[in-house]
Amino acid sequence: MYNQFRLTQQAAEALASNYGTPLLALSTQQIEYNYRFLQEHLPGVTLHYAVKSNPAARIVDTLAQRGSHFDVASDGEMEQLTAQGVAPERMIYANPVKTIRGLATASRLGIQTFTFDSESEIGKMAREVPGGRVLLRVRVENSDALVDLNKKFGALPSEALRLLNIAHEKGLDVAGLCFHVGSQSHSAQPYIEAIRVCRSLFDQAIAAGLPMRILDIGGGFPIPAGENPVDAGQLCDQISDALGRYFAGVEIWAEPGRFICGTAVNLLTRVIGSQVRNGQQWYFLDEGLYGSFSGAIFDHWDYEMESFKSDRKIPATFAGPSCDSMDVMYRDKLTAPLELDDLLVVIGCGAYTSASATVFNGFAKAPIVVWEDQEEAVAEQLCFRCAV
Ligand SMILES: *Cc1c(COP(=O)(O)O)cnc(C)c1O
Repeated sequence: MYNQFRLTQQAAEALASNYGTPLLALSTQQIEYNYRFLQEHLPGVTLHYAVKSNPAARIVDTLAQRGSHFDVASDGEMEQLTAQGVAPERMIYANPVKTIRGLATASRLGIQTFTFDSESEIGKMAREVPGGRVLLRVRVENSDALVDLNKKFGALPSEALRLLNIAHEKGLDVAGLCFHVGSQSHSAQPYIEAIRVCRSLFDQAIAAGLPMRILDIGGGFPIPAGENPVDAGQLCDQISDALGRYFAGVEIWAEPGRFICGTAVNLLTRVIGSQVRNGQQWYFLDEGLYGSFSGAIFDHWDYEMESFKSDRKIPATFAGPSCDSMDVMYRDKLTAPLELDDLLVVIGCGAYTSASATVFNGFAKAPIVVWEDQEEAVAEQLCFRCAV
C-alpha cells in the first residue's frame, strides 16, 4: 500500500492563514518515503533524482542526506547542487544534447558522467571533457507513456554500436547504455522491452571490446492518478525481475523524478472570482497556468482538487489570475460548487509544477513551506502519518 501526502482541512486552513495563498506545502517525509519505496522495490539500483522535476533546495537536501545521486541537465542545476554540497561523483549530466557552457561547467566542477545519442555530441564531449565516462541513450518505444520523450531523444538500436565505437576511438570511456521510457509509464512492459534490447547491444559492444558496465533505466515511474492508479511497487518489482534475468552483475542506475517529488507537495489556492459566462460556471483562482498549474500544459496533468465540500458536483471552468485568455487550466472539471475565498488543496502537485512556473504578469511564484517544520505539524501532531 502506497501513502500520499494530503493535508487535512484543518492543517490547510492553518497554513493558508499563516502564509497566505497561493502556497506550496512540501512534505520532506514523503520525499524520504518515496526514495525508500523505490530502494525497496528496485534493490541494488543507484537512484539519481532527476532535478528538473522539482529543484527545491529542501528536496535536494533531503535526498542528499539519504545518499541519493542526481540527474542534472544544465549548468544551473550543476551549480545549484554543488552549492548544496553534492559531490560531482554523485551527478550524471544526463542531457543527450549539452551546451558548451554546460560541458565547461561540468569540467570545472568535476562531473565526469554524460549521456549522448548522436555523433555530433561525441566531438563536443571529446573536446570539452576528454576521457569522460559516457552512456549512449537508446530510443525505446512507449506510445503508452503520458509524456513520450523518445520522439526527441535516443539513438536507434541499429546505430548504437557504430556510435559507441566512435566514442571509444575519440578517447571517451564508453561505460554503458541508458534509456527513458517516457514519464508516468503505465506498465513495466516498455522497461522490460528496453532491457532486452539493451542486453543484446551490451553483448555486441562487449564482443567488440568496449568496457560496458553500467545500465541506466531512466525515470518514468508513475504516481497515483485517476480512477485506476498503477501499482508502482508491482511495476518496479517486474522491472527488478527483468534486471535480474538480463543484467545480473551489471551496475544499474535509475533517474526517478516524478515518483520522488510528485506526491510530496500540496498546492493551497483560493477562489478569487466566480461568475457564469455563457451558461458555464467559471472559478478564477489565485494560481494559474503561468504558476504552479504550468503542469496542466507542459505535463498534461489533471490535478485532483480537494474543496472539502460534499455537495453534488457541477462542471466548471478553472482559470488563473493573469490577464491572458490562455490562462485557463480546465474546462468542464467536476467540482462541488465553490464560493469566493474558498480554499482548495491541490494534491500531488510536486512534479513539473513549480519547476516550470513563471512570474508572468507580475504574479510571484508560490512560496514553498516544509510541512514538517510547521508548528501545526508538531503541536497538533499532524505529522506525515496523520496527514496522508
Ligand atoms: C525528465 C527525465 C527524467 C525523470 O523522468 P520522470 O518521468 O519524472 O521520472 C529522468 N531522466 C531523464 C534523462 C529525464 O530527462
